[in-house]
Amino acid sequence: MITVSQLLDEHWYERYKRISKLNIRSSIYDVTNRCNLRCKGCFFFSSGEHKAAPEEMDIKKWEAFIDSEKQRGVNLAILIGGEPTLCLDRVAAFYKRLSTFCATNGLIKIPRDRFPDMMLGISLWGDEVDEKVLRGKDTFSISSKNYQGDPLVYYLYTITPKQIGKTDRIIRKITDVGLKVHMQLLSNDEGVDGFSWTPGQLEAIRMEMDAMLDAYPDTVISCRYYHEIITTGQMLGRRFGWNECPSVTQPLDKRTPQPKRLIEFIRWASDLKTMHRCCTSETRDCSTCKDGAAHMSWVMVNKRAHIRTPKDLQNWIEVYEMFGKLYQFIPW
Ligand code: SF4
Ligand code: SF4
Repeated sequence: MITVSQLLDEHWYERYKRISKLNIRSSIYDVTNRCNLRCKGCFFFSSGEHKAAPEEMDIKKWEAFIDSEKQRGVNLAILIGGEPTLCLDRVAAFYKRLSTFCATNGLIKIPRDRFPDMMLGISLWGDEVDEKVLRGKDTFSISSKNYQGDPLVYYLYTITPKQIGKTDRIIRKITDVGLKVHMQLLSNDEGVDGFSWTPGQLEAIRMEMDAMLDAYPDTVISCRYYHEIITTGQMLGRRFGWNECPSVTQPLDKRTPQPKRLIEFIRWASDLKTMHRCCTSETRDCSTCKDGAAHMSWVMVNKRAHIRTPKDLQNWIEVYEMFGKLYQFIPW
């Protein structure tokens, strides 16, 4: 049997040891069913998840729920919605109890005196034109003013097919405001004309993502293997989809055989009782899913399969490190 130490030189082994100490147990929470935007293609609204359950309004119930999540072993709370910043008391309840990551559209500035070291990911759907078409607003002009130079903020840049050839300009803009960026691909859940991927476009954007990583190594939080996985949907000859997805809510996961999966992962609705199927859209056809977190988790839970060649294992380490950086387990 091949072992990790046989495959790695000293430098890579040190990197491997650093991430091996992490024992990440994440779950995802819909903080609210409301949002101050209505983006075309937002999985939350397009799948009707905002109507799945009424919001729990009693902050004491949120606090007790988060305590029970902590007891369940969760050590990373990923807050989504809707727009979490509309309910800062709920965000604070998480922040006081758990390592907390908050996804936001960046239109409302989180007060840093109240949340001094909370990591934020700001959604960005392309350039000014794309953002106006898909979100009704050029959000970057607002979010970049709110968070310029903040060391704990990155843009979660959802790349659409219309962005091919344009990512350099966006990433330069992000560099200029002193923030980081992580790239993912749009899953066109609402079938907006011209925003579904073709194989040729996926190949082109993979090359472009690699080029951005080379050109902006201090701004782009990514790695080439992630680009390969997300654009091809393939890992070591296996195809991503329902049978392989690691990010299915555990109590709802009746798949046999069970694939490698995130331990105890649950995505909770904002009534604190209802569970959603997975980390993203309840109704998405898994064969079209481009969810970035699900793809990186897919790599991470399949360590054993990567203990094959030095390159395979290094790829696995780089994806794990990328996740660690995005959720503040290791520094940028
Ligand atoms: S800002 Fe986020 S939650 Fe709100 S509509 Fe857009 S994608 Fe959905
Ligand atoms: S939609 Fe994506 S994240 Fe959800 S179960 Fe399917 S493959 Fe997994």
